[in-house]
Amino acid sequence: MSKLQTAVRDIAEEMRVRTDRGEVATYIPELANVEPKHFGIAVVGVDGEVATGGDFAMPFSIQSVSKVFTLTLALGKAGDRLWSRVGREPSGSPFNSIVQLEFEKGKPRNPFINAGAIAVTDLILSGHQPREALGEILRFIRFLADDPSIAIDEKVAASEQRTGYRNAALANYMKSFGVLENPVELALGVYYHQCAIAMSCLQLARAGRYLAMSGRNPETGHPVIQAERARRINAVMLTCGHYDGSGEFAYRVGLPGKSGVGGGILCIAPGKASIAVWSPGLDLAGNSHLGRVALEALTKRMGWSIFGA
Ligand code: GLU
Repeated sequence: MSKLQTAVRDIAEEMRVRTDRGEVATYIPELANVEPKHFGIAVVGVDGEVATGGDFAMPFSIQSVSKVFTLTLALGKAGDRLWSRVGREPSGSPFNSIVQLEFEKGKPRNPFINAGAIAVTDLILSGHQPREALGEILRFIRFLADDPSIAIDEKVAASEQRTGYRNAALANYMKSFGVLENPVELALGVYYHQCAIAMSCLQLARAGRYLAMSGRNPETGHPVIQAERARRINAVMLTCGHYDGSGEFAYRVGLPGKSGVGGGILCIAPGKASIAVWSPGLDLAGNSHLGRVALEALTKRMGWSIFGA
């Protein structure tokens, strides 16, 4: 068994028996039904080695992890023009905060807080019907994971659509400053559906490989995006990927990562591996508690922190 396989096996076993699991998100009613005992991990090395543990094959709601893929798509469409609509500084605020938006005249701090992600989705939507935009997002993720079976969990999307009062407030506020081009309800509809994409850890780790491989598709060797862009997406993941827990994640794990309130985290060890973990219980900043603990253990054992072994 390789060093990676042994580490993943040990970590999965350790996480299975831990009792400190955080709290499952309840503000999206459908997510409140998820069993907090799950833990899954999948690591896909740039050399093709795959190591998995726990519930690595079970699909979960990727939620905000989807924002990595929409940011990649939007940069492909708009290039650096994107940054005139959305900033790239850490927010230091909760994921759904509205306070900062007022100070900054409707321009969201970064593409990973909810306001920023809605603005990015709005950009993808421009010139399309919502169904086409959503199809483009889903096709892109299926292509990255090389898995056509990836789908949207309509129940989760409907559940958030019914209760997404804060996101509606953020979107309306941005619209009043002209930051959104499309009708608020259309941009939100696409956003809720992209968040409701269900993927397993293995599918997610496979989808993230291009970020560990300087933007290249591992199957074909062809670029998905330019190397420079992949490097920059990783930088934004490191500084903004865990909301106001981003500093703590960098301190403990030392890798770019993006969390979602479904309890998933996509984490990139550039030049080494793409990693996905899932544990539905969250910490106070809305990030997977055991997911972070597991990633900390993994980077320590493998010496993968970008800040040194
Ligand atoms: N769909 C969620 C929301 O907008 C995403 C938040 C997250 O995953 O952090 O509230």
